[in-house]
Amino acid sequence: MRMNNMTQNQTQAAPASKKISTYLALIVMIVMALAVVALLIAAYTYVNAATAEDQITAAAFGVIGAVALAMSVFTLFQSRRQVEQMKIDAPKVITTIECQNKGCNQKTVREFQRGDYVYKEIDVPCTKCGGKQMITGIFKEIKEKEKTYNV
Ligand SMILES: [Zn+2]
Repeated sequence: MRMNNMTQNQTQAAPASKKISTYLALIVMIVMALAVVALLIAAYTYVNAATAEDQITAAAFGVIGAVALAMSVFTLFQSRRQVEQMKIDAPKVITTIECQNKGCNQKTVREFQRGDYVYKEIDVPCTKCGGKQMITGIFKEIKEKEKTYNV
């Protein structure tokens, strides 16, 4: 059940970042293709160069191709690093569950699951006394600080 919910969350979070990366990948691929074309023109011009002017043209195309290729590769690495950073910084949403049995005070914390809301009764009985459990809080886990949301 828990695994199920986790995979659901992952597929839910995927589309936004996927859209950005496919958009970026498309641009990078176009720039890469142009770079390869420029390098091919450079090679062709250099091989068939009859004058010094042709050699300059070949060098210019070579530089353009090399710079474009380097830029596209750099962008690819940069975007990959950003995606990784986003994954690390994504705050976890935590659900706290408390036993409703007075005097038990059993409190459990788990990852937020779809359908969780404050004051919702949980089907799973308390592991300590077997009493009814209720969600008492849902909050985002932010480094150092904890921000609570009163629903
Ligand atoms: Zn209990």
